[in-house]
Amino acid sequence: MAPGGGKDSAKAAHLAIWHERLCSDDPRLVPVDRERWARVRVLVVEDDDAIGEPLVAGLKREGFDVARVRTAAAALVAPAADLVLLDLGLPDGHGFEVCRQLRARSSVPIIIVTARDDEIDRVAGLELGADDYVVKPFGFRELVARIRAVSRRTATPAAASGPQRIGELEIDRRSHRVYLAGEEVALTPKEFDLLAVLAVDPGAMVTRRDILAEVWDPHWYGTSKTVDVHIASLRKKLGNPDWIETSRGVGFRLAIHQ
Ligand code: CA
Repeated sequence: MAPGGGKDSAKAAHLAIWHERLCSDDPRLVPVDRERWARVRVLVVEDDDAIGEPLVAGLKREGFDVARVRTAAAALVAPAADLVLLDLGLPDGHGFEVCRQLRARSSVPIIIVTARDDEIDRVAGLELGADDYVVKPFGFRELVARIRAVSRRTATPAAASGPQRIGELEIDRRSHRVYLAGEEVALTPKEFDLLAVLAVDPGAMVTRRDILAEVWDPHWYGTSKTVDVHIASLRKKLGNPDWIETSRGVGFRLAIHQ
């Protein structure tokens, strides 16, 4: 891809996919207990209207109490929120600085929103105290599931920022390690990401398209057989093929009995 124009058109394509996903009334969206989530105040820190506007509308539709600011300075003086969705590229500073300053004075859960899957950004963000990260463009359902997962996790102090436990499986997103009955399972980075995406909302179906977008790249032009290959390998390593259910033509779900 040529530099300059290529980058702009890639960004435009990202935004188009993002917009389409946010604006579609996806029937796969799980029913929401609006009463419960209406109490969750989400602060969206995003300068780009093409992302911020449909994102705020979508979150409100899901029942969240949403406020949005466009700059780092505004984020630091915004009213208290229960969760912050933080874009890294802000007009008046880097999101990392916002993350560091927010974390220095509160334990508000922070989900970093990065423009691309940059390993350095991800590690640096988590080291600065972010609770999770998502990569643009991501499925809206995935984002909502992560907001709920982070809210649930941080609601109980004992579980705050600890590994996720599902039955005898333990997933530590901070260290990228997985344990099965206390024994570490050696996963490749892609296998880890795949398991982490399925584990965001255990029992929920995750489509192939969302898996490809989350774990690989939204512009993945290869065959989705890649997903099957990694699922097969993950099943083998977890030792229990039934833990990942296949829904033919739709996707996969984690089916571990708690
Ligand atoms: Ca931005």
